[in-house]
Amino acid sequence: MEDTDDRNPDVGVHALIFETPNLLGERAAQAYTDSARWFPDMADDIPLTALCLAGEVGEAANLIKKVARGTHTWEEVFHLLTSEIVDVQTYLFQLMGQLSRMAEAEGSKWTWDELYDLKRAYNEERFGRGSQSAD
Ligand SMILES: [Mg+2]
Repeated sequence: MEDTDDRNPDVGVHALIFETPNLLGERAAQAYTDSARWFPDMADDIPLTALCLAGEVGEAANLIKKVARGTHTWEEVFHLLTSEIVDVQTYLFQLMGQLSRMAEAEGSKWTWDELYDLKRAYNEERFGRGSQSAD
């Protein structure tokens, strides 16, 4: 069986994204439920999650700083940097899960994937084939 996709001939991760229409929402729900199991008293603490997210972004930025400063190479920081990026993703997904619960409580029907697609389309129009304006 040939593994191709008309939308993305290189398949792989692209196929996974298109075949999982609520991929971001699923990850957000997973991160929220993980946090609720591991730290039940803090699962809905949005300010704490935001601080954790900022801390992980700082850890990733610090590694990049070391390369920019010239004391480390990309090869030296690569594995640590990918690990920190996953930490960033984890807290971002947790924050998304927390906001999803708020939205569900209010009866909202949007999904993170829909919001991402809308923003991506906006950015494509703004920076891609559309206007080159950076306003
Ligand atoms: Mg970390």
